[in-house]
Amino acid sequence: MILIAVGSSIGSAQNHFAAAEEFLQKQGIMVVQKSDNFMFPPWGGIAKNEFTNAVWQLKTDKSPDALLAQLQAAEDASGRDRSTRWGDRTLDLDILIYNDEKIETADLKLPHPGMLKRDFVLIPLLDLLQKLA
Ligand code: AMP
Repeated sequence: MILIAVGSSIGSAQNHFAAAEEFLQKQGIMVVQKSDNFMFPPWGGIAKNEFTNAVWQLKTDKSPDALLAQLQAAEDASGRDRSTRWGDRTLDLDILIYNDEKIETADLKLPHPGMLKRDFVLIPLLDLLQKLA
């Protein structure tokens, strides 16, 4: 199972999420199930806006690295400004788990460290798992 965390705090999250789904689909990355969208306060002390967060299940033959590259391309296509590390963002796409892959490189850590301890991931994740049950 491939799961990603999806987030947005600038502009219309609905529009960013829909554009991301379409972008990924064109690259052969299918969104097979989505949690509801949930609102959370900004995390980490730098972002100022409320975040909309969700967790999506994907289906793709792409490797974890190739998937990460496409997620980053989708973030860029949303107009994402990367100048502030923890700042507000149009679109954030992070891989949570990729089957049972364990990866620890500079660019990609799987399972995503820490993410599964955060409410803005756990609550959408539980919602998604309920939909899959
Ligand atoms: P951010 O978009 O601010 O969440 O951070 C993206 C950075 O985290 C990029 O430099 C990625 O290479 C790195 N990264 C490490 N592990 C992951 C992962 N599992 N999913 C997405 N980005 C990751």
